[in-house]
Amino acid sequence: MQSGTGRGIKTLKFQMKEIGVVILSAPKMKNSRLFLSRFLHCIVWSVAGLSFASAAESVSNLRSAAQQSTTPQQALDRLMEGNARFAAGHASSRDLAAEVKQTAAGQYPVASIVTCLDSRTSAEYLFDLGLGEAFCARVAGNFVNEDILGSLEFAHKAAGAKLIVVLGHSACGAVKGACDDVKLGNLTATLAKIRPAVAAVKDDGTPRNSKNAAFVEKVAEANVRLTVQQIRERSPVLKEMLDAGQIGIVGGMYDLATGKVTLYPDTVTNVKVAAK
Ligand SMILES: [Zn+2]
Repeated sequence: MQSGTGRGIKTLKFQMKEIGVVILSAPKMKNSRLFLSRFLHCIVWSVAGLSFASAAESVSNLRSAAQQSTTPQQALDRLMEGNARFAAGHASSRDLAAEVKQTAAGQYPVASIVTCLDSRTSAEYLFDLGLGEAFCARVAGNFVNEDILGSLEFAHKAAGAKLIVVLGHSACGAVKGACDDVKLGNLTATLAKIRPAVAAVKDDGTPRNSKNAAFVEKVAEANVRLTVQQIRERSPVLKEMLDAGQIGIVGGMYDLATGKVTLYPDTVTNVKVAAK
């Protein structure tokens, strides 16, 4: 999380120190050609290092400005356009090695996305995003706890992201585990965080366990709504930003079978979602 300017100054300081070491060691060098060679080597790398730092800093500044001028709605539109491309099989072809270089000097993501640990719910893939475009917090059952709330506070208050997305998914194993009240090592405590969503689904006379697929989906949906609610209730930092219109929030569901994300209009703050 070092700034481009900081990196450039550090590079310069390192190179100046190297030049100093070469000059100080000159009297000890019997071979004057060796001294000259090492001295020139240091000068060339100093200039190259500064040029690289300067170019990286320019790209970094542009990305920073783009992040700051993005509204929560624009961030959401970008994600949903990406999901439409992904679901249609037209995800962008990416030069990840180039993206590594472009993002090395700093990160300016426009969104943070809370998703499940499930191996099929990698947010960057399903929203067709590249490196440095979103903060992704993942935990089985996509709930929030103190650590994830702290991470979101960093993402938005410190790092400038504009939109929080809480994304559940169909046929979630963690939700099924919570429905069945599974006990297993540390997973017991993890699943206990999803139990309030199980309790939130009204009893309609059908089985309240993982064999009832419709019940599992209702619990997953309730879990997303409760998570959105908890972000506001348990983080005064994020609540203040939401109330001030600085960031937006939305909850939704990812369908493992279609690759499509559906958003819940009643979960939004500071963004609009078309009602289905
Ligand atoms: Zn899951």
